[in-house]
Amino acid sequence: MLKITELFSEEQLSKFKERNDGSFTGECPSCGKNDNYGGSIINTKTNTFYCWGSKTVFDLLETVALLKGIISCREGRHANG
Ligand SMILES: [Zn+2]
Repeated sequence: MLKITELFSEEQLSKFKERNDGSFTGECPSCGKNDNYGGSIINTKTNTFYCWGSKTVFDLLETVALLKGIISCREGRHANG
């Protein structure tokens, strides 16, 4: 199965920091949200991307659309319904 990190270019991924649990945090490529925690997280366990700025979650295909600029993170699904 495709890993979510494979959707990101090396350059995009280099802007993220790897955490102990194998996920990556960094600036949201859509809204630019960033803070001490990073503004977004690439979750390698669930293969999802989450933006803390917009509080929205993206599965693999939605992340493709997000990275291509077809949708913005604000147009994503809210994590809990
Ligand atoms: Zn965002």
